[in-house]
Amino acid sequence: MKQNEQTETEKAMDLLKDRGVLKFDDFELENHYRVIGKTGEYLVVLPKFCTCDHFVFRCLKTPEKVCYHILAAKFARNIPLADKEKWNELIFSK
Ligand SMILES: [Zn+2]
Repeated sequence: MKQNEQTETEKAMDLLKDRGVLKFDDFELENHYRVIGKTGEYLVVLPKFCTCDHFVFRCLKTPEKVCYHILAAKFARNIPLADKEKWNELIFSK
């Protein structure tokens, strides 16, 4: 199957398989995920926020739409595939 024929769900599953979804290891940031996609890194906050262009320019206007980063984070919450990482080390080490 070609890349552009993939559904959003398949793209989200690929992100998970590639270990591109990281959960912040902090109770206060329970719904926060760092998603590393092909074109960049994004912050996802469940149930419905992502910092990618697609979400900001298209999905915000349409209540039922979400980008596949958000889908991937939802999957990650339900299946224990997401690696945890220490967000504070990540932020302060840069
Ligand atoms: Zn997104």
